[in-house]
Amino acid sequence: MMKGVRKKSPSPEEDPDRRVADTRSDVRRDIVLLCISGLALVFSMICRDLFPVDPAWIAAVLCGSPILWEAAKGLAERGDIKADVLVSVALIAALAIGETFAAAEVAFIMRFGSLLEELTVRKARKGIERLLLLKPDKARVLRDGDETLVPAGDVRRGDVLRVLPGEKIPADGRIIEGFSSVDMSVLTGESMPVDKSAGDEVMGGTINLFGSFDMTAEKTGEDSSLSRMIRMTESADVGKAPIVRKADRWATVIVLGAMLSAFLTWLFTREIIRAVTVLVVFCPCSMVLATPTAISAAIGNLTARGILVRRGDALERLAEVKRAAFDKTGTLTWGQPDVAAVESFVPAMTKEDVLVLAAAAEKRSEHPLARAVVRGCPSGSASLPAVRDFIMLPGRGIEGTIGERRILVGNADLFNEREIPLSDRGHAFALWMRQEGCTLIYVAADGVCVGAVALADRVRPDARNAVDRIRSAGVEPVLLTGDSREAARSIARQLEIREWRAQCLPESKLEFITDSARNGIPVCMTGDGVNDAPALRAAHVGIAMGGIGSDIAVESADITLGNDDIRQLPHLLALSREMMRTITADLSLSMVLNFAAIALAFTGLLSPVTGALVHNAGSVLVILNSVRLLRWGAAQG
Ligand code: ADP
Ligand code: MG
Repeated sequence: MMKGVRKKSPSPEEDPDRRVADTRSDVRRDIVLLCISGLALVFSMICRDLFPVDPAWIAAVLCGSPILWEAAKGLAERGDIKADVLVSVALIAALAIGETFAAAEVAFIMRFGSLLEELTVRKARKGIERLLLLKPDKARVLRDGDETLVPAGDVRRGDVLRVLPGEKIPADGRIIEGFSSVDMSVLTGESMPVDKSAGDEVMGGTINLFGSFDMTAEKTGEDSSLSRMIRMTESADVGKAPIVRKADRWATVIVLGAMLSAFLTWLFTREIIRAVTVLVVFCPCSMVLATPTAISAAIGNLTARGILVRRGDALERLAEVKRAAFDKTGTLTWGQPDVAAVESFVPAMTKEDVLVLAAAAEKRSEHPLARAVVRGCPSGSASLPAVRDFIMLPGRGIEGTIGERRILVGNADLFNEREIPLSDRGHAFALWMRQEGCTLIYVAADGVCVGAVALADRVRPDARNAVDRIRSAGVEPVLLTGDSREAARSIARQLEIREWRAQCLPESKLEFITDSARNGIPVCMTGDGVNDAPALRAAHVGIAMGGIGSDIAVESADITLGNDDIRQLPHLLALSREMMRTITADLSLSMVLNFAAIALAFTGLLSPVTGALVHNAGSVLVILNSVRLLRWGAAQG
């Protein structure tokens, strides 16, 4: 997959492939150094006399020097006073008065904490790797007018490819027919879509928005994998979760407090050893461990259930959510509807003609309803007439030219907007089918409504239970759908969702989310479609359906439900809260322990060594408490 990336051999900073490899070897080196240091500490504890110098020195140097280095760098470059400054001062002070073991132990725990943090980042990265495996890049290759789905890696130079709305472009190439706009932000960071039409170049890995086009592949494979790698490494910034930053802000206060306390201790007691002990026990070892261990364990828990977390802070944000918005088609329903009925409203066309016309136009759409129409067409998709100048109207329908006629397929809103009236027969058919709970799409040729197709989708069997559990967790479910009021009401009634919005355009979904946030109600959004992407991106937490979801939805979301299993949503919410509770508990425990230790150190009841051991106990408790999250909720299934 990454062969192409290697061939280009950019500088190390730019080469994401090497960046990943680097962190891997860094981690391996850290593990080895920690093992050696751990052994040295053990020897120092049980048989120090056998050695000419205290073996704890090995640990103090191996673990301490990177801390000193980082602290000095932070202080010099940014004036940062972080935990590592305190640890450095404590280390030097302890070593200066001959308390090698205490110094070594504190250094050891701090290094262990940062190793765990690194491993957490890697865990999120693994999640992303799994995500890439789950949604391997596919390409639609056109051969003899028929479309076959092949892995993007199998695309050859010169192949003609078809790209549908919301899909990732599988290779570099040139558009031969059709037009669209493309989201290039993956490669350029530029979020304005760029318009593309016949003759224009397109880049592999970028995302096609609302049109569909055919292209010839010119460069294959490598570029899309380059963009994948860049994305992968960039989105895995678990270490920078906001709560970590909060801890950093505290750090300055803690550091200054520690220095002051140590100084006061010395002033009152005139015993340098007590002052050093105060410095040692002030080191926030267990606090440093609390957040990364909890996030890491929670991500592990979720990965085992097929839930992929792209950003560690998403879980923290999820714990704050008060409202859960759902898209309907594809999320609460299977998104694999069947054609329930077809009607022609004009004498010149049979029902069959209407269905063929609709299917031909919908062939270029990725929407679940469009796929259903094509599937429901008895003549098969290969024999359908070709469509030109296709555009998708997100949340409303599609438009394209077949032969000489301009065909419009979509919902009632779209037809109102274009001022295409429905005949009495049309109204009667629509009313009847809607009462049956069907979703209706209308078909127009050159501005005349010629017929309609009714589609019946089924609610996912677990949706009701999931919605109930979400509500009992104190999160209010809301249905946001582009479908008609009747369809929305029918689903809302079946699932007992009290709040719903029908006839939503992508903008209206987005607006609901931002309005809600403005009123202080953070919303998580769950969706699958191109029309959900803006809302997924804007939501406090965006959750995509991994299987049925379009590429753009998955890319816009923070979390992906790998197997489209809506049942996992309540678990996800509950776990995020349990994770925050764990972190808070861990932090409080650490504080209490530290303050008790400080008091004892002041009175001289703790030596630097016993002080460091109290620390150790705190760290172990914190780790055990976090690890519990790994299997949390396993009993509920
Ligand atoms: P939801 O929000 O329920 O997932 P969408 O926003 O994707 O639904 O679509 C809203 C409505 O727009 C659909 O119910 C349908 O009437 C119409 N629509 C969207 N895309 C298409 C399409 N490709 N063909 C026909 N109708 C469409
Ligand atoms: Mg949808």
